[in-house]
This record gives sequence, C-alpha cells and structure tokens, in this order.
Amino acid sequence: MEKKGSPFGMIMQYADTYKSKYACSVVFAVISVVCGMIPYFAVAKMVTVIMSDSDKMMSFYVKWCAAAAAGYVCKGIFNGISTSISHTATYLTMKEIRLKLIAKLIRMPMGAITNSPSGHYKDVIVDRVEGIEVPLAHLLPEMTANVLAPVLMLICLFILDWRLALISLITIPVGMAVMSTTMKSYGENYGKSVEIGGRMTNAIVEYMGGIEVIKAFSQSENSYEKYENAVNENASFFYGWMKSAQWAMSAYNAITPSVLLTVLPFGFLFYSSGSLSAAEFITIVILSLGLLEPLIAAMNYTDNIARVSTVMGQINEVLESPEINRTGKAAKINGNTIEFRNVTFSYDNEKDALKNISLTIPEGKVSALVGHSGSGKSTAAKLIAGFWDVTDGTLSIGGQNVSDIPLEKQTERIAYVEQNNFLFDETVMENIRKGKADATDEEVINAAKSAGCDGFIRGLDNGYQTVVGSAGGHLSGGERQRIAIARAMLKDAPIVILDEATAYIDPENEAVIQNAIAKLVRGKTVIVIAHRLSTITDADNIIVMDNGTVAAHGRHDELLENSQLYRSMWQAHTGTKGGAEQ
Ligand code: ADP
Repeated sequence: MEKKGSPFGMIMQYADTYKSKYACSVVFAVISVVCGMIPYFAVAKMVTVIMSDSDKMMSFYVKWCAAAAAGYVCKGIFNGISTSISHTATYLTMKEIRLKLIAKLIRMPMGAITNSPSGHYKDVIVDRVEGIEVPLAHLLPEMTANVLAPVLMLICLFILDWRLALISLITIPVGMAVMSTTMKSYGENYGKSVEIGGRMTNAIVEYMGGIEVIKAFSQSENSYEKYENAVNENASFFYGWMKSAQWAMSAYNAITPSVLLTVLPFGFLFYSSGSLSAAEFITIVILSLGLLEPLIAAMNYTDNIARVSTVMGQINEVLESPEINRTGKAAKINGNTIEFRNVTFSYDNEKDALKNISLTIPEGKVSALVGHSGSGKSTAAKLIAGFWDVTDGTLSIGGQNVSDIPLEKQTERIAYVEQNNFLFDETVMENIRKGKADATDEEVINAAKSAGCDGFIRGLDNGYQTVVGSAGGHLSGGERQRIAIARAMLKDAPIVILDEATAYIDPENEAVIQNAIAKLVRGKTVIVIAHRLSTITDADNIIVMDNGTVAAHGRHDELLENSQLYRSMWQAHTGTKGGAEQ
C-alpha cells in the first residue's frame, strides 16, 4: 500500500472493490447533468422564437415547457440514483477501512497503542475515516458531472459565438487568482487543524477519563488547564484561519458567478456592430447563466481534495505501522515450558526494562515473579503474553521461539488476569463469554460458579443479563476481579498469568478470590506477580527481579538463605527484623 501518490490514487486503493458502483454513479450523475441542461435550451429556444415574431402554435411552447419540466424531474431522479449508489459504495468502503484499522490494532505491539494518547486511535478510526465520506461519495460523481456540464455548455457557446464564449470565462481566472492567495496554504492549514483537533480530542478524552479525580479534588473544569488550552488553541486557530481566508473567499464568491458583467456589454457591442444576431445573443446569455454554477460547485470540492492526503496519510500511518513480528505459520508447540534466553527488552530504545535475562518457567508449576516496583516483573509477563516482541535474545514457549508461533496460537494458550481488569459495557454473561466466544450459557454459569461469583451475579438487578456499565463501572473492584477470573476460567488456557491479581482487594473478598484462583491455576503453568510475598511462599519457583535482571531464583526457604534482596523484601513485608511469617 503506497503512502504517497495522488490523493485520489490513495483513496481509490480502498475503494477499488466498488469501482463498478462508482462508475455507475458517475454515469447517472452525467445523465443528471445533461438533463439539467435541457431547461436552458428550452428557454433559449422559446425566447428566440418569440423574438423572431414567428406565429408558432401554443403547442410549440407547451412542448418546450414540458421538455424543461421533464429535464428538471429527470435531473433530480438521476442525481438521486447516482448519490445513493455512491453513498452505498462509500459506506461499504469506510466499513472496510475501519475493520482493517481495528484488525491492525490487534497485530500491533501494545507499546504503539498504549504510548499514544487514548483519543488518537478513536480520532483516526472514527473521525478521520468519516472525513473521506465527502470526497468519496460526492467528489467522484458530482465533480465529474459538474465539470462535464460546463464543458458541454461551453461547446455550445463556442458553436454560437467563440468571442462571447471566451468572454464568458473571464470571471473564472479572476476569481481563481483571488482565491489562490488563500488556497496556497490550504493543505498546510488543514494539516495543522487536524493536528490541533487531535490534541483537543486527546485532552477531552483524558479529561473525561480523569473526571473522578477532578471532582474528588474539587477542581473546577476551568482549572484543568490542558483541556482549556487545547480548546482555546483549536478555536483561535480556526478563527485565525477563517479570518485570513474571509476576504478572498467572499471576493471569489462574488466575482466568479458574475458572468453577465462581461457577457452583456460585449454581447451588446457585437449585436450593435451587426456581428451577432439577437437570437444568438439571447441564447448565449441564457446558456452562460447555467455555465458557472456547476463549475463553482466543482471548485468547492477542491478543498476536499486538499484534505484527502492528510486524512489518508493518517489512516495509512496506522495501517503501515510495524506489527508484532510473527513469521511462523504452524509451529509445533511441545508443552508449556517458557524460556527466556538472554532476553533484553526496551520500551523506548532508551532504557532497558529487561537486561539480558535467562530463566525457565517450568510447565505445570507455579512460578512467582517478585521484586521492587519497576524491576521488570510485568514486562516479563507481558512478553510471555505476546503484547510486545523481545528486543534481543529469544523467548520460547514449548520449545518454539515465539516469533515462529502465530500470535493467535500464542494468545490462545494464555489467560491473563490483571489488576485492572477491563470489562466491556455489555452484560455479565457476554463479559465472561469473552474467554471463549462459543461457550454456552451453561458453561459461562459454571465458570462463574467456580470463580465464586455466581451468587453475587444472581443478586444483580438482571442477574447474568445485567449490563456492567462502561469499563465495568457499575461493579466494585472485587466483583470485576471475580468476573475476570471467571472469564479466565472459561478460557481454560494451559498458561495462567496473574498480574498482582489480589493487590487491592478487601480481606472479605480476598478469601473468595484466593479460592477462585486456586481453582483457576490447578494443573496449569502459572506465573504470579505478587507484591505480598506471603501469598507465594509455596510457589515452586520464585524469581527475584532487580532492576531488569534476575537477581536470584529458587524456593522460599532457599532464597531466604541465599538472597540478600529477597530476605530484605521478606523482612519489609512481614515487618519483622530477623524472623519470617510462616
Ligand atoms: P514492575 O512490574 O516490576 O513494577 P514494570 O515491568 O512495569 O515493573 O516496569 C519495568 C520498567 O519499564 C520500569 O522502569 C518502567 O518505568 C518501565 N515501563 C513499564 N511500562 C512501560 C511503558 N509502557 N513504556 C515505557 N516504559 C515502561
């Protein structure tokens, strides 16, 4: 998919599937334009006959009036057909682009998504894609038709009198010369407006996301400076842009359609000098009235052409961004042992979050990652989950380098339960079913029972059919956590990652959740990231992370003996100087 190229070429890469629809729409638009010219010819014909003092019958006028009326009606009908075909094709094209963008997000490394402001992708997928509606649905048929109509009119004018035909065009270059003073900077200004608009969207999304904090700390909306600045920046940019373009736009709109200013005096001159007949003069005046209106309409689309390259540039930027590197097709994965061999990983190429680590997470055992905040525990877990590619070294699952394992094969082996488990604004039933798309209601309910949340779900207003609110906002943290565990249980993946899963749960909930987790992890390869060391003293293997490296590993007792770091963490956790909580 090329990034550069003409804006039209860029847009047609996507609209290609529907090119026959667009062709039909152009054909109907042209027919509509031709029909729209009939009234002008009818009027010219009738006026000419009246001027010539001919004693035509009433039926002659009725016939031409009927022709004019038919012209108007057919213009409307064919225009309607053309627009409806082009809109159908356009909305189908937009749907495909949006689906491509959504599919792309899943294949992109998490970093590319999480490191962008949360409004960015919404902006591209919703607003930018919406921005191609006008160019695609209107530009093709209407611009073709609106350029063709004046060309046909002009041919007629040239046939009647080439001098007046040329004179009738004078206002166009004059109008365009005036307009060009602002059009030169249009592309640049539009690009800036998209950038500033994007900043405003991001600020608004962030503001809405943080509304709780703003309320809790009694901040009025005006005190959220970033939001206020973004809105002001957007408003003043558009005000400045429109102000600078206002004079030229008004002059252009006044000058360009004033075709009679030139045609009338020159026509009269030619008529008085005897080089133009009265009938020709009148016909030319009438036809020239219909000449510029479509041309002006066509020109109004030029700003849309200028927009297309910015819009398509943003869409292509997402579609062409690097994907998680998965070249393998159907690699055979033997078991679920996870192995890091000299793995280095950096989020931003500046600081390594993991530094040359080598460790084995054995199949069917519970391995715990412990260490101070920022030591790299979550990063290691997220590499296993396939959210990012390793920067250096190899990570393998079941003896296969993950870069040889198709991403969906890797993710289907893993259930990831996080601290902030996201729930969709759907029913409880559907949220749990995300663990296994084809699960029956019964399977969902069984998973909920095992996760210890069947009771509270049935107590909700609509039981399993209760909609949980945006991001699960209608439920408590503990309830969301249990639903997430039920979801993971339903998935029944052989590898389970628990990322600080019980860190912020109240004691009452904790017993239920621990119970649920115990069922979830039975017989699985488990990786637990725990702050509270007392929860992992029984783990088969505890890996002590320190500043992106593995400082030590072993069982709890071994580490207490051999690892100074683990011992100090344990002491800090238990709050005792030399003893341990057993
Ligand atoms: P832990 O889970 O042990 O608290 P993390 O794995 O989250 O530690 O973080 C390890 C290092 O990587 C830290 O220095 C942290 O600041 C950095 N880090 C974590 N997530 C990101 C991210 N999305 N982008 C950039 N740096 C990150």
